[in-house]
Amino acid sequence: MDQAAPRGTRDILPPESGIWQQLEERFDDICQRYGYGEIRLPSFEHTEVFARGVGDSSDIVRKEMYTFDDRAGRSLTLRPEGTAGVARAFVQHGLSSEAYPVKLYYRMNLFRYEAVQKGRQREFNQFGAECFGSADPAVDAEVIGLVDRFLAELGLTAVRLELNSIGCPDCRSNYHETLRDWLRPRIASFCPDCQQRFEMNPLRILDCKVPEDQARLHDAPLLFDGLDPDCRAHFERVTELLDAQGIRYQINPRIVRGLDYYSRTVFEFISENVGTQGTICGGGRYDGLVAALGGGEVPGCGFAMGVERLLMELEAQSCLPSLPARSRLYLASLDRAAQTAAAGLADRLRQEGITTCSDLVGRSLRAQMKYAARSGFSHVIVLGSDELASGSGRLRRLSDGAEEEVRLDADAIRSRLDPRTAD
Ligand code: ATP
Ligand code: MG
Repeated sequence: MDQAAPRGTRDILPPESGIWQQLEERFDDICQRYGYGEIRLPSFEHTEVFARGVGDSSDIVRKEMYTFDDRAGRSLTLRPEGTAGVARAFVQHGLSSEAYPVKLYYRMNLFRYEAVQKGRQREFNQFGAECFGSADPAVDAEVIGLVDRFLAELGLTAVRLELNSIGCPDCRSNYHETLRDWLRPRIASFCPDCQQRFEMNPLRILDCKVPEDQARLHDAPLLFDGLDPDCRAHFERVTELLDAQGIRYQINPRIVRGLDYYSRTVFEFISENVGTQGTICGGGRYDGLVAALGGGEVPGCGFAMGVERLLMELEAQSCLPSLPARSRLYLASLDRAAQTAAAGLADRLRQEGITTCSDLVGRSLRAQMKYAARSGFSHVIVLGSDELASGSGRLRRLSDGAEEEVRLDADAIRSRLDPRTAD
């Protein structure tokens, strides 16, 4: 049997999982401060949800999905992104009848069959949020503001925000023709993927990852230059609101985003450090998505942030969240009666919120002390017949060996371990 996890997947063990928990808590907290409620979704959907919701011409649907038939012959797909599933749930649960805007956030694992490299896995995680029901540019600015605030609260500085508008379907169909005309005499020199995109959705070519193709595109016509007046006014209002919040951005007319359902505002938060995998977060407005999934005309706007890439960036900028320093007590025991007493005392201490472990292996005292020191315990009490008889023992702090006498009851021990919670 192959003992390694499948290629492109990763196990997260302690203490790293503690850092994940911290990030998750902070993301929950900021979303709740912005009025978002958490949505939890199934890990797989009917394939059609993504084919329609992400778009047939996207890289995700064309070549990255884990699609399979279940035993009853239904085509299912492990979710490659979050927004289509959230919109599916929005339609299914009739959320369009709730007071607008409807604000939902999520934390989820995702699956894409990709070329594995640093910051690019086959199972990865995103934090995201979606706001449904308002076409007002105030939504776009608040969604961007949430991400900006989150990154600032984590202490990240070297991240830049790039902003663009890809207009409405009308702007795009005009532009498709302009772009096709420009590409037609040049397309033979582009990569095979781009040749397919030329037919399906030429806008996708602007998003090609092949550096030579990017270079060839430097003087291609820009959609941004041909936005219709409504789309231009929308974009200008977004920038006005960002300016008012003091959020800095660069306009980058080449951002198109990988999914088909975007309209108008698109944005990315990009690391100043990491190279090609430097996009930490992407998002934008998707006014046609809910309708594409069989709901009504409900506008939406949201973002998705890659958690693994966020962690890489936090590490690069030396701002990984630190784990809270907590006391951890080990109750060593000299004999069977003491082991029994230790188990009872440990139970009472845990009810008081104190991390407590006792011997589960039947080890010698020496071996127990070695275990406690190696496993990160901060304090030890050794229990034997004397301690059981007197009802008190010596609390030893492992960092410096300091000892003090303490009564063997939960309140007394708690007050010695953490003076802040003393009665
Ligand atoms: P890229 O251009 O890097 O392929 P994308 O446009 O496919 O990104 P989105 O679908 O917008 O990415 O997902 C939002 C975020 O999720 C990305 O900005 C990135 O941080 C993260 N992400 C996307 N794909 C992966 C992956 N395979 N492994 C790890 N993180 C990923
Ligand atoms: Mg991708």
